Amino acid sequence: MFDTRELGRRPGALRRVSRTVEAPEGLGIEVIGVPVGAPLDVELRLESVMEGVLVTGTVRAPLAGECVRCLEPLAQEVTADFQEMFSYPESEGPARRQADAADEEGDEESLFLQGDLFDLEPVLRDAVVLALPLQPVCREDCPGLCPDCGVQLAQDPDHHHDDAVDIRWAALRDLAGQLRPDGSSAGQDKQAKAPRGRGDDPQET
Ligand SMILES: [Zn+2]
Ligand SMILES: [Zn+2]
Repeated sequence: MFDTRELGRRPGALRRVSRTVEAPEGLGIEVIGVPVGAPLDVELRLESVMEGVLVTGTVRAPLAGECVRCLEPLAQEVTADFQEMFSYPESEGPARRQADAADEEGDEESLFLQGDLFDLEPVLRDAVVLALPLQPVCREDCPGLCPDCGVQLAQDPDHHHDDAVDIRWAALRDLAGQLRPDGSSAGQDKQAKAPRGRGDDPQET
């Protein structure tokens, strides 16, 4: 909750506020988010306008998550800007709500001041979640994991699997040989042992 008492209700009044608040639960998406209780650094500019208080600000928060490619833990930061209008509640009929004919009819989306206070949490939540990377990576060129064995390719750049691939090709050739209608599976053993098939078609016999 933030306070607008010092701002006053004279349109045009301005006030800047810096505050650090604890992150609420659930401030994130599946792969990355702000840990509960982590510090959210909030910088606000409050401006008193006819209908209420216009809040413009920036939030900065630490993130925890994992790289979607290599699954390494990530420590990043998110910065998000937001602007939100907190209207004076019509029902409470604030004294200053004089001949303001342009009173808006209860727009579902609008947020209201609660006395002198306003609740910034939903605003911060939307701003932070929208600013999160949907596919966070530890670095832009993260090579990810080997699709065959799951090793981290960044740790092992020369990693390759020619042999495993060949074994599988060989197994397919075996199968193809066995399924051959005329039963001619000659050459099957030779091919299974050949380490460097590179996907060449098995020679017909
Ligand atoms: Zn990565
Ligand atoms: Zn591998």
